[in-house]
Amino acid sequence: MDGKWWDGGLPFQCTQCGKCCRVEGYVWVRSDDIREMAEFLEITPTEFEKKYVRTVGRHLSLIEKPNRECIFWDNGCTVYPVRPPQCKTFPFWHQNLSSIDEWQEVVEECPGSGTGVVYSKEEIEELLRGQGETNKKE
Ligand code: SF4
Repeated sequence: MDGKWWDGGLPFQCTQCGKCCRVEGYVWVRSDDIREMAEFLEITPTEFEKKYVRTVGRHLSLIEKPNRECIFWDNGCTVYPVRPPQCKTFPFWHQNLSSIDEWQEVVEECPGSGTGVVYSKEEIEELLRGQGETNKKE
């Protein structure tokens, strides 16, 4: 048996408060994400990288504004349809689901977590693989 504590599903409904876009942290991107966002902004991937991406070790992250907000936060996400997988799958990240206590911490920070539409075990597993997005409606 390898049942997870969240096998019965977990509720989440983003309130668009933007709290998670305005905290310090890395937003990891890969070349596919860069290509997609560059196309959305009608610039080349090279231009996108120069303007919006920094290298962290062997990985790439979006840059932040001096106040630590995501560079694409402007009273809303300005690249929402093509936001990186990390943003599309929040809060269903491995670290957030590693224990009920971890999830509880997320619930305390994010007003959309722990409430609203229930994501099934199968849907959560897909999101944990970095696929799909948390756009389920009631
Ligand atoms: S995911 Fe949570 S913290 Fe982020 S915008 Fe939605 S409700 Fe706010």
